[in-house]
Amino acid sequence: MPHALEVPPQTVDKWQDIVNLLAEIMSVPSALIMRAKAPNIEVLVSSHSAGNPYEAAETAPLDTGLYCETVMETRQPLLVPDAIADVDWNANPDIKLGMISYMGLPISWPDGEVFGTICVLDRKKNAYSDQFLRLLAMCRDILQADLNMLMALSGQLAESQARIRRLVDSDIIGIFLWEVETQVIVEANDAFLRLVGYDREDLRSRGMRWTAMTPPDWLEVDLRDRLPVLKRSGHLQPFEKEYFRKDGSRVPVMMGVARFEDGGKQGVAFVLDLTERKLAEAEARESERRYRETQNALAHVNRVTTMGQLTASISHELKQPIGACAMNASAGLRWLGAVPPNLEEARLAFERINKDARQASDMMSHIRDLFKNAPLQKEGVQINEAIREVISLTRGEVVQHGVAVQMQLAEDLPPVKGDRVQLQQALLNLIMNAVEAMSTVEDGPRELTVRTAADADHTVVVTVRDSGPGVPPEHAARLFEPFCTTKSSGMGMGLTICRSIIQAHGGTLELCENEARGAVFQFTVPTLDA
Ligand code: ADP
Repeated sequence: MPHALEVPPQTVDKWQDIVNLLAEIMSVPSALIMRAKAPNIEVLVSSHSAGNPYEAAETAPLDTGLYCETVMETRQPLLVPDAIADVDWNANPDIKLGMISYMGLPISWPDGEVFGTICVLDRKKNAYSDQFLRLLAMCRDILQADLNMLMALSGQLAESQARIRRLVDSDIIGIFLWEVETQVIVEANDAFLRLVGYDREDLRSRGMRWTAMTPPDWLEVDLRDRLPVLKRSGHLQPFEKEYFRKDGSRVPVMMGVARFEDGGKQGVAFVLDLTERKLAEAEARESERRYRETQNALAHVNRVTTMGQLTASISHELKQPIGACAMNASAGLRWLGAVPPNLEEARLAFERINKDARQASDMMSHIRDLFKNAPLQKEGVQINEAIREVISLTRGEVVQHGVAVQMQLAEDLPPVKGDRVQLQQALLNLIMNAVEAMSTVEDGPRELTVRTAADADHTVVVTVRDSGPGVPPEHAARLFEPFCTTKSSGMGMGLTICRSIIQAHGGTLELCENEARGAVFQFTVPTLDA
């Protein structure tokens, strides 16, 4: 009921000043603001002036012929300069209090409903000048402006209360109210109770505290970091935590918390159940993990098959130093068996054995690295060196297919940040693809160019260019997708894996040219200082 609204104390204080001033300016004992409270009329504010018989909060019954009653009924100003001489007024109840003159105006609520009156009374005859009437009217306008504001605010308040109530009742989100000092939950909606597995009876009888329902590992942060912020700023940024359910299990939630008003003793908490989201997150993590394991396993298989293709040429490469070892060993034995033994020649033969054996063993360990399924390292890699090693591993294959290799490796390249073996794996795939593509070219040169260059933006660019037939256009768009292959024995995983290796290094891999004279693949890798 808007017409039953309480006038707030600070407004009453202001109105008190107004009536005090009125009494003083008009030199009368009483200036009053009266409020209709059927069946009575109440003295809402009474001037603090000498000889004023009216006290605030006094009430008198209506229907007794009071001056103010008439003003309220007629909604018109009333001026009674001398009640004693006025037959209409000489019996009115205020005369008993000695008030024989009166000037009053009606005060209305914004919707026109009567609020009460503002009036001045005197113990003597008083004609109240026109200026005084205007002054009284101005004061009345001020009071009505205050009532206007009061009603608007109460409307907004009622609306926001209704909105909160709708939210509480809607049961979509858990809500509870709690005492900031004692942490006791004083009210909670069904959604919250359901979330934590309690019922209304628990809430009434147990004095449930949210602190007791919070697992100790979360409570520490709540008490140490959040509560002081809430007390200081009145609200908290949304955060995640857990509650104990009544059965002792835990429920993950997202919380929003606010205090009702500045210094308010109660807080309101909005609680969203995250159980499903957490499950979905865990599932996503698990499938991501599984995907990575599938990819790793595939990368391994791919590596092993690529290396399988290389075996022939690698064993050819190995044959050379191992054969040389054998030759030098027999030569060395011969020099030692000579009479007299030629120790200098024998020493030279053993030195050559030493060098060739080391070369063979280096080659073996590179091959083992490439076979291994080792986790990603991030260290400084000299990309040119890594390229040279791969080129030397593929030499047999390259020679066998009549391919000429050109290396245009930029000098003084900064080391790139990455895993040498993985980068070599990517290079190996690109080079083997290029060699394989060119092996179908019958006329024209078979040229493989590997180029490195420093990019301005702390990256190194590696380009692998061939003079093969290029990628069939219908495949170009899906080249990096798994199982895209044009080869009868291909897996179609090579480029997918190359790209994921390069991306894991923070770089990109693209097919940047694809024409009749060949395909150009290019990748970037950030440098160590990037
Ligand atoms: P796979 O070699 O097992 O087919 P990749 O993912 O390495 O798998 O390559 C996918 C396809 O891309 C190949 O089948 C081939 O059609 C094409 N391709 C890759 N590199 C080249 C290249 N240098 N020239 C022409 N086509 C290429």
